[in-house]
Amino acid sequence: MHDPLMQRFTEMLAHLVGLAPTPSNPAGRQAVREYMIGWLIRLGFDITEHGDDPTSQVVIASRGGKGLRLGLCGHYDVEEAGDGWSTPPFELTLQGGRLLGRGVADNLGPLVLRLLVLETLGRDTPTAPLLWVLQGEEETGSPVAHALYPTLPWPQVDLWIEETGYFERDGAQRFLARDLDATGQRVVDALEAVARQAGRGFTIHPRYLNKAFGESRCPFLTHLVRGRPYVALGPNDPDSRIHHIGESLAPDNIRFAMTQFEILLTAAMNAQTPTQI
Ligand SMILES: [Zn+2]
Repeated sequence: MHDPLMQRFTEMLAHLVGLAPTPSNPAGRQAVREYMIGWLIRLGFDITEHGDDPTSQVVIASRGGKGLRLGLCGHYDVEEAGDGWSTPPFELTLQGGRLLGRGVADNLGPLVLRLLVLETLGRDTPTAPLLWVLQGEEETGSPVAHALYPTLPWPQVDLWIEETGYFERDGAQRFLARDLDATGQRVVDALEAVARQAGRGFTIHPRYLNKAFGESRCPFLTHLVRGRPYVALGPNDPDSRIHHIGESLAPDNIRFAMTQFEILLTAAMNAQTPTQI
């Protein structure tokens, strides 16, 4: 069945993978950063950029709305390809029913799907207020983010959203969540309901996403989340092979992650904010 949204997703992701935004390719990182900024401006976000080096600047994008403020985290760099790929790592390739390419799961695919959901809704459709933080050095330990984050004036975020999340091989959702309050739990209930409607299992794991440099070295967790409500939401699964050869995503999970991201934007808008209780 032809799915125009997946077609669009594939074209955008192929473009970003082809830019090869690795630590050794600063021009590629800069190009992906500029691509993201262009999209975010068209979607109605206000942008600020921080840091001196244009290939590793932190981008903070914010947009108003109603309800809980969601904080989205992500990064526009990807790990080096490494040796041993059976497909060209910087050409998005459909093989064995999966989309392969360096960075598709960590985290170019999740970035693209969030942009597309926002575009599909249209910038005049109200959503929850959004704060989207993008950094360009996740794969090298995030020195710029670690230096900058403690110095910036952050607005209160009601629910932080990790750069991606996970499904099991059978399609069940392995939902990571920490420190939820009552309103955050209502948002999670809406996400669980749509998973169950889609015939997927749903299990909450009270922990953060595993990080290449460890939790204590992740600037998002140490400087921004800091015990605030947190969930991980996105299309990855045990075959995504982040940082390894053959990194890939399953189209079914991408499509469902789009649905769930849209539910998130609406559920957070309709959940009461803690100050209103
Ligand atoms: Zn990542």
